[in-house]
Amino acid sequence: MTASQQKKTVTLIPGDGIGPECVEATCRIIEATGAPIEWDIHHAGASIFKQGLPSGVPQDTIDSIAKTKVALKGPLETPVGFGEKSANVTLRKLFETYGNIRPVRELPGIKTPYSGRGIDLVVVRENVEDLYAGIEHMQTPGVAQCLKLISAKGCEKIVRLAFELAKAEGRKTVHCASKSNIMKLTEGLLKRTFEAIAPQYPEIESQHIIIDNCAHQLVKKPEQFDVIVTTNMNGDIISDLSSALIGGLGFAPSANIGNEVAIFEAVHGSAPKYAGKNVINPLAVLLSGVLMLRHLKMFSEAASIENAVFVTLEEGKCLTRDIVGDEKAASTTRFTDEIIANLGRSSQKWHIRNYKEIKLPHVRKDIDFVKAKSRQIVGVDLFVESALPADTLGPDLEKIMAGSKLKLKMISNRGTKVYPSMGAITDCVDHWFCRFMTVDPKEEVTDATIQDLLQKVGSKYRWVHLEKLQEIDGKQGFTKAQGED
Ligand code: NAP
Repeated sequence: MTASQQKKTVTLIPGDGIGPECVEATCRIIEATGAPIEWDIHHAGASIFKQGLPSGVPQDTIDSIAKTKVALKGPLETPVGFGEKSANVTLRKLFETYGNIRPVRELPGIKTPYSGRGIDLVVVRENVEDLYAGIEHMQTPGVAQCLKLISAKGCEKIVRLAFELAKAEGRKTVHCASKSNIMKLTEGLLKRTFEAIAPQYPEIESQHIIIDNCAHQLVKKPEQFDVIVTTNMNGDIISDLSSALIGGLGFAPSANIGNEVAIFEAVHGSAPKYAGKNVINPLAVLLSGVLMLRHLKMFSEAASIENAVFVTLEEGKCLTRDIVGDEKAASTTRFTDEIIANLGRSSQKWHIRNYKEIKLPHVRKDIDFVKAKSRQIVGVDLFVESALPADTLGPDLEKIMAGSKLKLKMISNRGTKVYPSMGAITDCVDHWFCRFMTVDPKEEVTDATIQDLLQKVGSKYRWVHLEKLQEIDGKQGFTKAQGED
């Protein structure tokens, strides 16, 4: 029995708004190919939030995905404002789907300013770390902070996934897009990991590009890109930008890939104004279903759908309103019927790639993933709340710490050094980053020294946050403030 004949159960989440219509169309088309799939239907999102479950993802849905290891989902509404977290993000994080794959390919009959240029790229976005780790704190009543967490393990997984995808799809180049010129430690970690791993894939060209130039190049000459690997926030933005190049969110599929579970979904949301009207374009969910079929090694069923979509769009006899406007529009159901009728046909002009299985990267499971030969604490950054100006706060902190093992090196405000003054025009807020360094560089900063600092500074000022300054393998594990020597 071949992989494509074995029956596979897939968790199906219809989703909110237009989700159920997109998902129904997709299931009908997949079933029409004869793909041996059984759906296990469960819910998440708005209906679950309304039942009072703050995660939006009930246990039966989690259990089903844990068992089937594969889910196809419609978009889920995210409540706006404080309180509930996005059910989408919860699902991605619960199952450690660390890689978000978003293919962007020009489609027949979808007119854009880029038509005819042959855009065919994939954005591989890290999916669980970065600013999306969701670690946010109010530092003072007027200053908020979000931690950008990037791990060496997370970088290794996403970089390897990008190269393995390039190999499986016969692609020639992988670009790493990062902001490592500014965020040298976090974004720099992705770049350094990319440069370390790239030589293991000599058949694939590797290039680094700064993320803002990547956005610029994507608009200017998108056809130069093949695979782009990037961090979560950057990837979120450039993948939506890339979708717009080929006609918009209605055509953008995605796969959330983990080593154990994969979740397939459209990039678009629940477009509530179109819910239940039978007018929406189901292609983004359908093409996510195609990615799912390939993940399940049902390559011929996937190819059959992709070919039928090309034929349907190329002939343009029966298209939804987002493609042809209200007057000529066919309903979602008619469009779905047309794709089903075109199964088995293929276009003369539009060909699909020769896809192979993506070999998911093996990454060691150790928690202590990177071992340092040496590390030393050389100082402390203490974040202090105060309404005093820097030229009063600085001398006062120096006075308070006189004779201690730590001395004030400088104070910065929102990243710019303000004490000792450089004469910069800085619009200060009541959140001061005070860097204390050890007086004797040979002596490590101990917890007792830090407690002494907290006790002394804390007796006069409200401190809100503390970071140890470490040297790891002889290198500074912290950055300098703008203007700091
Ligand atoms: P959206 O639902 O993606 O809709 C934005 C616009 O995109 C629609 O008004 C429509 O444009 C067009 N569009 C989206 N899907 C379409 C389709 N299948 N066919 C035709 N046109 C389509 O974005 P949103 O309005 O910002 O978000 C609505 C809700 O979805 C929010 O609760 C959001 O949190 C959630 N969301 C969920 C996901 C997810 O589940 N992964 C992703 C994004 C957003 P026109 O108005 O121009 O016709």
